[in-house]
Amino acid sequence: MKHISDNFTKEVDKLLSVTNNIVIVTHANPDADAIGSSLGLYNFLIKKGQNVQVITPNSYPEFLWWMPGNKSIVNFTEDKKIAIEKIDKAQIIFYVDFNETSRIDKLEKYVSKSIAIKIIIDHHPLFNDKADYTLSDDKASSAAELVYEFIALLNNINLIDVEIAKCIFAGIMADTGCFSYNSSKSRTFEIVAELLKFNINKDEIISNLYDNFSSDRFRFLGYCLNEKLKIFPEYHTAIISLTKKELEKFNFKQGDDDGFVNYPLSIKGIIFSAIFTEKDKNVKISFRSKGSFATNKFAKQNFEGGGHINASGGKSDLSLEEAIEKFVCLLPNYKNELDED
Ligand code: 5GP
Ligand code: MN
Repeated sequence: MKHISDNFTKEVDKLLSVTNNIVIVTHANPDADAIGSSLGLYNFLIKKGQNVQVITPNSYPEFLWWMPGNKSIVNFTEDKKIAIEKIDKAQIIFYVDFNETSRIDKLEKYVSKSIAIKIIIDHHPLFNDKADYTLSDDKASSAAELVYEFIALLNNINLIDVEIAKCIFAGIMADTGCFSYNSSKSRTFEIVAELLKFNINKDEIISNLYDNFSSDRFRFLGYCLNEKLKIFPEYHTAIISLTKKELEKFNFKQGDDDGFVNYPLSIKGIIFSAIFTEKDKNVKISFRSKGSFATNKFAKQNFEGGGHINASGGKSDLSLEEAIEKFVCLLPNYKNELDED
């Protein structure tokens, strides 16, 4: 559903008519859309004469470091003091690519007690609209697409430059898997067409994001697909599980498993895929589906998670084995929904 607060444009326009200290926060374990949308917004707000700081809850993979403005980002895990100072001084805080503060981990404490005006720009289903102003549309391809819409609403398309265009394009491209999903609306392509007018090098962006992996990651993918894939044909489901030991063996770095969960959906008949990863304190789970099976509902009901219909995540405090067992035992309860497609 699309949700824009009453008087959004008028009020935000008024707020930005004077210089503010602005903080942009995105979700933990930021992906290309999180960084692309945050930096697209960052570069735009800088052009509007604002004092802006992007803060991420933790680090993110090297293949995202090329984005214009990346060097200015503060990672809370590494630079707590600066991050807290910036949040304390902020008059406006943007929530980009998330809308539940639980998604920003340890930053939540500081952001929630801040008296700054909160503005959401997000494309996840919106359950609690706790911000002062919200621009949300769960039908939008990406948060980056909504950053473009935000700029358009403010009548500032004229301020878009090649840097802003690169960031927004990267976010849209990544969250649509190079335009293979989340991208059936003509509006997404209209925006992309506008961005391409800035002579951004599309091929270079694709290469930055997808041809930039370590050999460890490549072998790790081979291992996951060859040794760790389990298929449950009667439930059109496939899973991959990874222990901490296996991650260590392949010199795992954050982001090395990005996109792995999508691969099983290429198998004929598989519409639901999950990847279980053993972390220090819990098990992180990513879910993906094709068609109408609502993985976000599944994640919320069973694994303290959420997200989009076809892409969501969750966690479990059980051991890796127990979490998988729980998952497998749940499948019969969803047989009808899994049979629908
Ligand atoms: P990923 O599997 O790439 O970590 O996440 C896929 C999607 O699910 C993202 O849009 C992300 O925002 C959402 N997501 C992942 N983990 C969680 C979680 O623990 N809680 C909620 N609410 N959403 C999540
Ligand atoms: Mn996103």
